[in-house]
Amino acid sequence: MTYALIAATIVLHACICLLAADFLAGVVHWAEDTWLRPGISPLLDKWVVLPNLEHHQRPGGIHYWGHCGTPPRAIALLQRLGVLQPAAHHALHHKRPYGVRYCTTTTFLNPVLDRIGFWRGLERIAERCGARVHRATPARGGY
Ligand SMILES: [Zn+2]
Ligand SMILES: [Zn+2]
Repeated sequence: MTYALIAATIVLHACICLLAADFLAGVVHWAEDTWLRPGISPLLDKWVVLPNLEHHQRPGGIHYWGHCGTPPRAIALLQRLGVLQPAAHHALHHKRPYGVRYCTTTTFLNPVLDRIGFWRGLERIAERCGARVHRATPARGGY
């Protein structure tokens, strides 16, 4: 195996891992926004629910670079490459109907998942299983 092939394999695996992590984090984010609310568990409140709630009430306080208009140069470069989301990409998550752009790392998955109705499909499956959908909105205090 040549060094070029080894390097290409490493880069390919890194890209696959990045996209898989972004997707899984997006599914968790969707579930948080859809079902979690304060009072279910003190541990969930401290580590998941309240930070998520605070972020939806005050965007920019958590994943700062996804809301920062003037990030450091290295971050701006990664944002131009799509490896990290620029503020304009993520901003749609915080606007009506509050049901898109759940993946918060790259710019590659959200357009596809939103276009095919992936999140609404998950909600339809959940509803068929007896769950009620309670999407995070400002009217609900961000959760
Ligand atoms: Zn959210
Ligand atoms: Zn945000």
